[in-house]
Amino acid sequence: MTNLNGWSALIIGAVVFLSTNSAQSAEKLSVLIVDGQNNHNWKQTTPYLESFLEGTERFTVDVVTTPEKGAAEQAWSDFDPQFQNYDLVLSNYNGEPWPRSVEENFEAYVAGGGGVVVVHAANNPFPNWAEWNKMIGLGWRKANYGDRIAVNDDGETVRTAAKDGPGAGHGPQHPYPVVIRDRAHPVMKGMPAEWMHPKDELYHGQRGPAMNMNLLATAYSSPDQRGTGAHEPMVWWIPYGDGVVFTCLLGHVGGRSDDLTAMQCVGFRTIVARGCEWVATGEVTFPVPDNFPTPEQTSVETGAE
Ligand code: ZN
Repeated sequence: MTNLNGWSALIIGAVVFLSTNSAQSAEKLSVLIVDGQNNHNWKQTTPYLESFLEGTERFTVDVVTTPEKGAAEQAWSDFDPQFQNYDLVLSNYNGEPWPRSVEENFEAYVAGGGGVVVVHAANNPFPNWAEWNKMIGLGWRKANYGDRIAVNDDGETVRTAAKDGPGAGHGPQHPYPVVIRDRAHPVMKGMPAEWMHPKDELYHGQRGPAMNMNLLATAYSSPDQRGTGAHEPMVWWIPYGDGVVFTCLLGHVGGRSDDLTAMQCVGFRTIVARGCEWVATGEVTFPVPDNFPTPEQTSVETGAE
């Protein structure tokens, strides 16, 4: 009897634990990070993205890793991400094309209402995947690839045709102000109109179909920093079927670098966490943190995750 009672208590304890746990996870959004190839230090940045997202208590994160560059075709047959099981997919991937079956699953996932967040060089791959390029709008491409979008000093969006003007590039890394172009958008709401981002690459001349682009933030690409003299798109979103794709070009961490400053920026963290929440739910619950960067001051969180 004593034994039985002991087991009953254990079982009841386990049931209570499980139900508490599932109640908590029901409130959390599931994220699938895709990585495995990148000319940036994905072995550092994926764990960082994972830990800061999970640290918000709003997300659970799984990671799926592709075969390494040059792997045999057989290795790719095991790469079969179950996108449909997640509230959103975050791409930290810049590498070889995925098998067509994976591309098709991804297209179906987004068209069916899935959310996608693309960080920094994750907009570089897949120049020959037409649907991907519609989703990201602008990618790291040569000038002849497609249109370019920039904002002039009057705040007007200017479209440049393929071949005209610069293709993708960036000058030396430097700190720069990020200018919010849609302050009513849930991801940007409550941020200063302009705030300082620490040393990072400032992408310019991104190219693509650039259809249905909703520009959320830009940064001025100064000729003094070998830039274009235009306000270049930094953050934007594009609807795709019933889904939405959110791109943030901030967040350079070099291939061999363990300097995570560009991602430790409180502005970057806020944009990515809010972006993840918004692509999955259409809403944002995170407040703008008290230590958010100001027009004069960067803000970097270097503490343990
Ligand atoms: Zn970079």
